[in-house]
Parts: sequence; structure tokens; C-alpha cells
Amino acid sequence: MITKTPLLSKILATVIPQGMFWTKRWHLISGCTPVSEGCNNCWMRREAKLRCGNPYPSIRRLHEGLLTDSGHWNGTVRFNHHLLQVPLLSGSPQVFAIWSDLFHETLADEDIDRVMAVILACAVFNNHPHTFIAPTKRAKRQRQYFASRTPAEHLKAWAKVGNAFIHCDNPDVTFEEHVMGHCFGPSDETGRILEDRGEWGYTEKLYPPPNLIGCVTAENQPAAEERIPEFIMTPFHRRVLLAEPLLGPLVLDGPHPAPSKFDNHGNGVEWIEEATWLWKGGLDGVMTGGESGHGARPSHPDWFRSLRDQCEESGTDFFFKGWGEWTPGENVRRTSGVVDGAVWDGDSWFYTRENLANADYHRDDQPDVYRVGKKETGRLFDGRLHDDLPEVCQ
Ligand code: SF4
Repeated sequence: MITKTPLLSKILATVIPQGMFWTKRWHLISGCTPVSEGCNNCWMRREAKLRCGNPYPSIRRLHEGLLTDSGHWNGTVRFNHHLLQVPLLSGSPQVFAIWSDLFHETLADEDIDRVMAVILACAVFNNHPHTFIAPTKRAKRQRQYFASRTPAEHLKAWAKVGNAFIHCDNPDVTFEEHVMGHCFGPSDETGRILEDRGEWGYTEKLYPPPNLIGCVTAENQPAAEERIPEFIMTPFHRRVLLAEPLLGPLVLDGPHPAPSKFDNHGNGVEWIEEATWLWKGGLDGVMTGGESGHGARPSHPDWFRSLRDQCEESGTDFFFKGWGEWTPGENVRRTSGVVDGAVWDGDSWFYTRENLANADYHRDDQPDVYRVGKKETGRLFDGRLHDDLPEVCQ
């Protein structure tokens, strides 16, 4: 579980039944561009279409000007600076999710720095005990961003950019000074520094940010092979794979030539390289689910089953968000009516129309699924819920 306090545990308990692992959305970025098959039915694009005419200007502004006449992303990507402070206004613990891609190629490093400054502020101030997750399909840029500086350089840059909009209780202390105060070595009860590494010399407590869960999305094997090696080379305390919508089987196991562990003793970063690494060893959790909404594509139950079994074998947390629009026959509650059905022929889906009154749709061994809608499909998988999420180190 993500939980680190009883209160956050209580708050999460209210959203997990809906298949959510976050409690608040942080709408920092508007617009995106597709990168792979998983983007074909992007729900943020659908949301932009729906909300660009919203009567409330604050909602409309977030969504207008992003789509072409035919409803596709038009390439506009905006960073919503006015929402940067949102987590700093909330005192109760939350899990904030940034759903638009924070590592989109058109966003400036300085904007990512601003986001990281807020995450850092929540780690160093006691009154904003939040956790953050920023799922990305741009694993390469994410890695390049984190590899572009040493831990001390990152912390300095985030603290410096935060000076402009993050304020400490003591008005005589800048955010940068406050963060620097956390980067001296550990001290005894008299305040004497036990291990003096100088200014910004002790970064372990704050880097990688203890309250940020790394998250990369992969919908099928090609996406996983491209993104997971980048992901496991990126320094995070916890890494979660979001395999949603799951569009094909995923084997989370593969040798990789240059994975790294993070070690920042001394003045810089030392990257420890190992010859091979199982992806599973680099992932702390896998979250998965089917697709929802218009045009949703089915997921084969065996793809979920295989992911779950791989996680069980390797001791990796597994969270099943839900079936989405399609589900296997054993989950179909209605007993009459004609619905879309799909049968996997080993390579692609063969679509049918099924009269439930006549169909033999309750057989568990049939690789067929039915489109009965998200409300009916639910979250039970092989007769039970799968709700494990990795902890945050804080
Ligand atoms: S990367 Fe995410 S937000 Fe961007 S188009 Fe794809 S699914 Fe949508």
C-alpha cells in the first residue's frame, strides 16, 4: 500500500474501490500529442472535447484551444502556472496525480523544475504530507531530465526556482535556505553536525524525492521494451508500471545492459552498473486495467492473469484497476440482450454480436469477452480484488 499515515490510509480507502490509487488530480498541463497505440482513445482528449465549452471559465480555460476540428490534439501543450501551488494549499495528506504527460517534449526543463520544487516543498514542510505520481509514456525524456544534474544540483535548482512562489513560515528564510538546511549531515541532540559534508553535501534525505512514485505507462510488449529499461535507470525510491489500457501480453522480464542503482555518497553521483537485471527487480508495483469509453478495445483476461502471476512470483505489488468496458463471460451479470463480443484468435480480436440469452458465455475457459460497460464489469478478477500498491519511503 502507498499509505504512510492512518489518515492517508483512510482517504485512500475511499478511492481504491473505484480503482483509483490517487486522491486528487493536479491539472498542471493541458494538451498532449500521441506517442503509441495506448494513446488512441486518450481520455484527456475526450475530456478536452467535452469541457472546452464548459460554462465555468476556469474549467473552459484548461481545455480550450487544444483540439483540431476533427477532435484530435492540435499540438498545443500548456503549462498551467496558476495551478502550481495547489498541493501547498492542502494540509490533509493526498496522493496527487499529474495525468497529462509531464515529460512532454515541448515542456521546458524549468517547468519540470517548478513541479519538482512543489514536490520538494511537500517533503520538507511538515504541513503538506502529500505523495505524487506523474505517469509518463516519455520514459526517455524522464530519464534524461533526472540524469542531467547531480542530486545536489537538482535540489539547488528546484529550491532556487521555488524561491519565486514557495514561502517559508519564517519570512526571513528563503525556500532555498530552508532546503539547504536539510542538506547538512545528520546532527546530534545539541545540533552538532556529525558528518560534515558541507553545504548541499547531504542529499540522501531529499533525493530521489521521497514522496514521488515513479510511474511509466506501457500498453504492450513493444512499449514495455522501449520504456522499462529507461525507467529502471531513472532514480526513484519506488517505481510502478501502469499497464493500462492493456492491449497485449506483457512479459516483464528481460536482461538489460546498463541498469543502475543510485548512490550519491561523496560529492557527486555514482552510477553502479550491473550486467543484467530483471525488469521485475526494478519495478515495485504493476497497476493494470482495461480500456473505458467510446471505442474501447478489449483486453484478454490471460494478459492480466500473466501479469498478476509474474508479480506474485517476484513479490511485486499488483493492483487491478478494473476491466473497463469489456469483461469475460463469468463477470457478465445480465442474462439477456444483444451485446458486442470479441474472441481472441491468438493474434487479433474477432468481433461478434452475442445474444446473451443464447450464448454459452459463462465458461471460464473461453477466451472471449463482452462489452457490457464499465459499471457492470467492475474490479473482481478471478473472483477477488487485487489492491496492492507500493509504499512511499518517507
Ligand atoms: S501520452 Fe497520455 S495524455 Fe498524451 S496522448 Fe497519450 S494517453 Fe493522452
